[in-house]
Amino acid sequence: MTQRAFNFSAGPAVLPEPVLEQAQRELLVLPGARASVMEISHRSGTFKEIIAAAEANLRTLLAIPDNYSVLFLQGGARQQFSMVPMNLLTPDCPSADYILTGAWGRHALKEAHKCGAMRTAWDGSEGNFSTLPPADALDLAADAAYVHYTSNETIQGVQFPEEPATGDVPLVCDASSDFLHRPLDISRYGLIYACAQKNIGPAGVTVVVIRNDLLERSCETLPSSLNYQAQAKAGSLLNTAPTFAIYIVRLVTEWLLHEMGGLDKMYALNQAQAEQLYQVIDRSAGFYEAHAEPTCRSLMNVVFRLPNDELTAQFISEAAQHHLTALAGHRSVGGIRASIYNAMPAAGVTALADFMADFRNKHAN
Ligand SMILES: *Cc1c(COP(=O)(O)O)cnc(C)c1O
Repeated sequence: MTQRAFNFSAGPAVLPEPVLEQAQRELLVLPGARASVMEISHRSGTFKEIIAAAEANLRTLLAIPDNYSVLFLQGGARQQFSMVPMNLLTPDCPSADYILTGAWGRHALKEAHKCGAMRTAWDGSEGNFSTLPPADALDLAADAAYVHYTSNETIQGVQFPEEPATGDVPLVCDASSDFLHRPLDISRYGLIYACAQKNIGPAGVTVVVIRNDLLERSCETLPSSLNYQAQAKAGSLLNTAPTFAIYIVRLVTEWLLHEMGGLDKMYALNQAQAEQLYQVIDRSAGFYEAHAEPTCRSLMNVVFRLPNDELTAQFISEAAQHHLTALAGHRSVGGIRASIYNAMPAAGVTALADFMADFRNKHAN
């Protein structure tokens, strides 16, 4: 087998090697099933055990309270951009507030506008999406149906270290690129969603955690597959679920629980690994320049620039020779983006930090 590189892809992203190995061992015959997980009914006892275990693991990892439902949906995070307003706006509260700290928040708002006139509570685009709203800068409406924000802006590498203070209006969070990177107080959220392919599994499934009273807002005229209440009642099995993706989510959550020792430990590791890269940036005397302000630097997506495009291209190609791949920044930001999700091995971060230091020593004048 050719060597696996250290893969810094923003998504679909690196998965834990023990998870891939277990999936490989079980690919032809899932224990007890006499067939592959991809070849059995989503209504079989075997699959129902898998989806129940995935949910139970998530509930344990995040201490999800009993008055919240966990859904496994399709259509990616982008479908949530529509499902959130379709389900949560009400005749009394026909508008919601959006906090824009990067490209994904802007996409979410654009979709929501199709359901009504949304309000922008804060827009960081003037600062090129490199900061968070200062305290008291949020323009919030008391009668908003919800407040939407993006906990980690995957493209700009801007992350909220904690939830923004938004009062009593239900908080809705797109946590696609940092879900499970740290413990959360779920009771602070009305709804939190995350596509799997960054930090929790492969593409094809999106996890939604929703407070049960909000399920009552779903209107009967909505298409069933886009209706949170209908999905919750059906245990996410209204139609054929993405069975393989949910199976991998079960394995990833097991890995987090049993091999990584839970989210406190995972968080400490994530903090240390991000710090390793930001230190190289901060000690480079300006050769590397981080995109995000120090107070909101992402622990998941480390975004930085080199002095010019030529050096950036050279950095990417030399890194690939060192088995460090998928480091090119998003086309809208340029530079380098090193995505270091939960599954990135410590050796990968160290190899990148060493490579960055060497590259700077060779090329800084
Ligand atoms: C990747 C990503 C999305 C889009 O996810 P899809 O599953 O491709 O729809 C949305 N929000 C954030 C923060 C992301 O990182």
